[in-house]
Amino acid sequence: MTIYQNLIAGEWVGSDATKNINPSNTNEVVGLYADGSTEDTKNAIAAAKAAFPAWSRSGIWERHVILKKAGDEIMARKDELGALLAREEGKTLPEAIGETIRASQIFEFFAGEALRLAGEVVPSVRPNIGVEITRDPLGVIGIITPWNFPIAIPAWKIAPALCYGNTVVFKPAELVPGCSWAIVDILHRAGLPKGVLNLVMGKGSVVGQAMLDSPDVTGITFTGSTGTGRRVAAASIEHNRKFQLEMGGKNPMVVLDDADLTVAVEAAANSGFFSTGQRCTASSRLIVTEGIHDKFVAALTEKLNTLVVDNAMKPGTHIGPVVDEKQLKTDTDYIEIGRKEGAKLAFGGELITRETPGFYLQPTLFTEATNQMRISREEIFGPVVSVIRVKDYDEALATANDTPFGLSAGIATTSLKHATHFKRNSEAGMVMVNLPTAGVDFHVPFGGRKGSSYGPREQGKYAAEFYTSVKTAYTLA
Ligand code: NDP
Repeated sequence: MTIYQNLIAGEWVGSDATKNINPSNTNEVVGLYADGSTEDTKNAIAAAKAAFPAWSRSGIWERHVILKKAGDEIMARKDELGALLAREEGKTLPEAIGETIRASQIFEFFAGEALRLAGEVVPSVRPNIGVEITRDPLGVIGIITPWNFPIAIPAWKIAPALCYGNTVVFKPAELVPGCSWAIVDILHRAGLPKGVLNLVMGKGSVVGQAMLDSPDVTGITFTGSTGTGRRVAAASIEHNRKFQLEMGGKNPMVVLDDADLTVAVEAAANSGFFSTGQRCTASSRLIVTEGIHDKFVAALTEKLNTLVVDNAMKPGTHIGPVVDEKQLKTDTDYIEIGRKEGAKLAFGGELITRETPGFYLQPTLFTEATNQMRISREEIFGPVVSVIRVKDYDEALATANDTPFGLSAGIATTSLKHATHFKRNSEAGMVMVNLPTAGVDFHVPFGGRKGSSYGPREQGKYAAEFYTSVKTAYTLA
């Protein structure tokens, strides 16, 4: 089998490899991917540092052309890359193709942003002096990504990093190196100079740690768990380095008595269970007012009955497998915890067997949960959702905000008054009205508050806040 190698200083290198396994069919090896070492990471950082002076001064047209070419190729290969994504991560083929299209759109967006780079010229408060405010690239950006969006998250970090003139060392999650390798290959062939983008696949404890330990990495953008995020923060402060963290969520969706039941059920089913509940924006707390509670639970349970859990590549599958055995154990452990805490298992909770061996779990719904239970406070990151019954809107809002996280929050209501109040008073970074808590646009800011995020927002033009450093220059006229 071919080994997909690391890209360091413009050369494909590496002979040690790790198997990329299909969670829908654990007999299938998706590919063999290089297992990078500390030495590889140091070489990649050195290459990115050496490439920075020229790339930071490269013309915006060159950056535009490369990013545009990459976006076009990803779009042209959306079915093939979507299939690779579905096979390595386990989300359904339509979801995987959708994510691939989004990656392409992100490259298109930043191809455009490259042509819109601008500064400000303002008068000084002192006579005969001019003031210019410009943005400089940071330098070498370390990119560390999780397994749950194998193409979109790398795209939304690599595209702005390159657009604003930075060079990159990129470490994808070991579980899903396939899509990352593919987009690095695409960008390399699109004409990036040597060393501008380096790929080091391998273990977080080895490759990721070597990035954290290097004084030559001037910025780190990280998406992943809270625990690893804290390590990134501690190591970055040590090096006085800029960092950006996108971490977990325990996103609430409020359902009020006046909600349109169909809209509420569709949004809850999508938020909680699509992509196997493995989205940081997934809603795992459904906070439902008394008047609609029983009707809502009955309709949601009926909906869950119609959802097909099966091989991600099979037409008709609504929910693919859990990503791996470790995550499956986390999910089933939390189901046990929920039972023991006294929540009522209203649907699912069991492992399922399918034609191909994989990590299949029924969508699982708890009712009679409280917001103090561990299943309501800790991120599970699987298709496990609890319903919390509340008296009225005020209690619903207080319960929604009573969490250490603050990524996304939703409300299902036909009341303009409550929708407006919720948008203003939710403590989340992203708020959805009559929509799933997951599913966002690529051209506007993405990110959270409280324990979910740290640092500037990602995506859209707000991405410049992280990937550049502002400079103020004064000139005597
Ligand atoms: P992890 O924190 O385990 O891993 C994230 C990345 O960090 C991986 O590439 C991992 O490498 C790497 N890593 C692990 N250890 C270290 C280390 N010591 N130093 C540097 N890097 C390291 O998260 P998961 O991959 O399990 O992703 C799931 C988590 O991500 C969930 O908690 C989820 O909520 C969160 N997430 C948040 C999003 C957001 O935008 N807020 C979006 C998507 C996910 P390796 O995998 O090879 O060990």
